[in-house]
Amino acid sequence: MQQSHRSADLVRDLYRQGASYIFARKPEEIAKEYGFRQVARLASNENPFGPSPRAVQEAEKALVSMHRYPDTTHTGLIHALREYHGDYSFVTGVGMDGVIETCIRTLINQGDLVAISTPTFSFYGLAAAAQGGVVRNIPRNPDFTVDVPSFISAARDAKISFLCSPNNPSGTVTPVSVIEEILQNITGILFLDNAYVEFSSEEYHQLMNRYDNLIIGRTMSKVFGLAGCRVGYAFVPDWFKPVYDKAATPFTLNTISAAAAIGALSDHEYIRKTIAYVRTWREIFTKETRKPVLPSGANFVMIDVAPLTGDQATDFFAQKGVLVRSCRSFPGLADHYIRVCVGEEWENIRFLEAFRII
Ligand SMILES: *Cc1c(COP(=O)(O)O)cnc(C)c1O
Repeated sequence: MQQSHRSADLVRDLYRQGASYIFARKPEEIAKEYGFRQVARLASNENPFGPSPRAVQEAEKALVSMHRYPDTTHTGLIHALREYHGDYSFVTGVGMDGVIETCIRTLINQGDLVAISTPTFSFYGLAAAAQGGVVRNIPRNPDFTVDVPSFISAARDAKISFLCSPNNPSGTVTPVSVIEEILQNITGILFLDNAYVEFSSEEYHQLMNRYDNLIIGRTMSKVFGLAGCRVGYAFVPDWFKPVYDKAATPFTLNTISAAAAIGALSDHEYIRKTIAYVRTWREIFTKETRKPVLPSGANFVMIDVAPLTGDQATDFFAQKGVLVRSCRSFPGLADHYIRVCVGEEWENIRFLEAFRII
């Protein structure tokens, strides 16, 4: 088999040479290498409580109908989202990643401009490039707040711009007033990534009533505890929903995951408990690590580990049985940061104890 020859002939340049998403190391791998029965998994910003029992119950009920194609309009899930958030237009996807990909597919022609506030989540740029978009990165200020004039001037003529609040990996929250100023000064769409918004004190969705160029991306992977189910959704302007549905891959969101999402949305006590727990531990992480911790509105904090690099610190923690995320893979960020999320109590304690001797 002439694999390499084939690859050169058939595969797009982008996927023979280009960048790809970088995942955290596998916990099983670290457990084996350093002899731990269990590794503290603090690299992926998941919910440490496990799924809500209601999500499990609804998913189980849905199993018996898995021989049928899903409801293409996801009526049940859209209804549950409206019960939870109010009377807005929603679209759904396979994780927020799926929603991001479909939004780009809906809007971007070859050569169209896509503006991204960086350093941030890498998938916006990867998805934009896959669709032939031309990515323009706009660096944040040194304290990771958005450089508003630069962002506006770069985003003004972009088809779609991406801004993440609370930002991954810095945790930085952008005030609603700043988002509003941006919306008033651009012609394209602002995709506001709110994957972690529940852990912050800011709320943006009331802006949907006043702007028809705002999409707010949300996910069931973080506070709702369904990362493995891959369910995302977005608040969209009314005009956008029919075109999004046209661009979307048919039947992507599966019946079982949609049912789990409906169950998770109904469990207000689980959500409340998760948020309170995360806020408490975020405070403790901020106080008890002797290195600079960025102010965070998310379920993680970014820590400046200089003079170590993020990779060195990540290796150190791996040896102590703690999986954290080196921030080296975030384009435009210096190499001396790690990102650590709130986990179960034993995980948090193991992390803090290791931090004492780093
Ligand atoms: C986790 C995350 C997402 C999306 O996650 P899905 O699991 O695909 O829903 C989107 N944006 C940011 C910034 C994230 O951290």
